[in-house]
Amino acid sequence: MKAPGTDTGTDSGTDLGVVAGLLRDVPDFPTPGIRFWDLSALLADGAGLAATTRLLAASAGAGEHAVDVVVGIEARGFLLGAAVAHALGVGVVAVRKQGKLPVVAARRSYELEYGSATLELPADVLRPGERALLVDDVLATGGTAAAASELVEGAGAEVAAISMVLELPALGGRARLGDRPVHTLLAR
Ligand code: AMP
Repeated sequence: MKAPGTDTGTDSGTDLGVVAGLLRDVPDFPTPGIRFWDLSALLADGAGLAATTRLLAASAGAGEHAVDVVVGIEARGFLLGAAVAHALGVGVVAVRKQGKLPVVAARRSYELEYGSATLELPADVLRPGERALLVDDVLATGGTAAAASELVEGAGAEVAAISMVLELPALGGRARLGDRPVHTLLAR
């Protein structure tokens, strides 16, 4: 498996620089001791959003390995996932926090870097055999991506890849994701 930030090709250096320059870290949010990575400025910047979208979409593969659908994880994964899906010409599925969806296919609970949460997959949107690209902003402990992956796989679809903007390697998220291909643009 490739190291974070090395899997986007040699001509993506400019895009990576744009993304890195627009990330912001906030100490002690949402609880003391957590260093929170805020993508607000990146998403608000046209060039930043375009660069991020290109880089995440590039991890989707092509030809017979192309993805059929993007799965965005609440909430920043919705913003990124919709942009990536549009760039790839496929649809987007929103994996949501508990209680938001009217019709639920399945749910998974998991532990976060701070607290715990439950994710839900909407009913009747993923078809068996579809190749899904999971998109979110930050890979921390990997619990969120693991839960979302299990929901996708439980619906009979395949996790073709998991793509995130930022990886926090000290939290060991990759190890929670098993053999699923993981692409991250930057590591901090
Ligand atoms: P995890 O399940 O621990 O990998 O956490 C990933 C999810 O929590 C992502 O949806 C992130 O948005 C959020 N998250 C966890 N830790 C951080 C952090 N230090 N900075 C920003 N977002 C985080």
